[in-house]
Amino acid sequence: QYGRKQHRRFLLKLSGEAFAGGGGLGVDPDVVHAMARQIAAVVREGTEIAIVIGGGNFFRGAELQQRGMDRARSDYMGMLGTVMNCLALQDFLEKEGIETRVQTAITMGQVAEPYIPLRAVRHLEKGRVVIFGAGMGMPYFSTDTTAAQRALEIDAEALLMGKSGVDGVYDSDPKHNPEAVKFDALEYNEVLARGLKVADATAISLCMDNELPILVFELLTEGNIARAVKGEKIGTLVSN
Ligand code: UDP
Repeated sequence: QYGRKQHRRFLLKLSGEAFAGGGGLGVDPDVVHAMARQIAAVVREGTEIAIVIGGGNFFRGAELQQRGMDRARSDYMGMLGTVMNCLALQDFLEKEGIETRVQTAITMGQVAEPYIPLRAVRHLEKGRVVIFGAGMGMPYFSTDTTAAQRALEIDAEALLMGKSGVDGVYDSDPKHNPEAVKFDALEYNEVLARGLKVADATAISLCMDNELPILVFELLTEGNIARAVKGEKIGTLVSN
C-alpha cells in the first residue's frame, strides 16, 4: 500500500510518551524492551529500520515556555531528552542481538555519532538499526518534522508513526468522545484542513510535497510494527 521501492526501508517514529509506560515521566524499561523485541523481529526478516524518537516523556519546549522559560532553551532541553530515549532503545535492541547506531543532530561524541546521512544509509544496508536523536538540532521544530525529513533523506518507503493508546486518526478525541469515528485513509489536505492530530503541520506539509505516505498506528500492541511494515490494514494511512 506504500508504493514499493527497491529496498524495504522504513522510518519509524516512536512517541516519547510511549517510553514512559504509565508513568508519564522518564523511561519504563519494560516498555522499551517490548518495543525492541518488535523492532528486532522486523529487522531479522530483512527490513531496514531507521527510528526517530520523541521526547514528550521528558520535556516539551512549548510547555516549559508556558511556565516562563525561554523557548529556544527549553526546546534544547526537549531535544536532549530524546537522546536518553535513543540510548534506552539502543540498549534493548543490542540485547536482542541487533546492531545499532545512534546519530544525533547535536554532536555528543561520547554517546553517539553525528548525523551523517550517507553513513546512516550504509548502516541500514548492513542491517543495522539507525536511531536519530536530538530532533533536527533546531528549536521550533518537532520530532514529527524530524521524522518526515529523515524519512525523505534516507529514501524510506513510508513514515510509520507509532502512537501509544490510540490506534489511528479519529474525527475527534476517542478518549473523550465515545462516538469518535476512526479514518482508515485520509488525504494530506484533509488532515491539514480539519486540523487532525496526526503530526504538526510542518511535518504533514513536508510529506505532502514529497508524497511520503504516513501510517498512524498503535505501537504497543505486540506484532503491530510487523503489520505496519507488511502494509496490513491497521491504523490510518495518510497519502494523496
Ligand atoms: N524539539 C526541537 N527541535 C526538534 C525536535 C524536538 O526543539 O527538531 C524539542 C521540542 O521542544 C519538543 C521536544 O524537543 O517539544 C520533544 O519532542 P516532541 O514534542 O516532538 O516529542 P513527542 O511529542 O513526539 O514525544
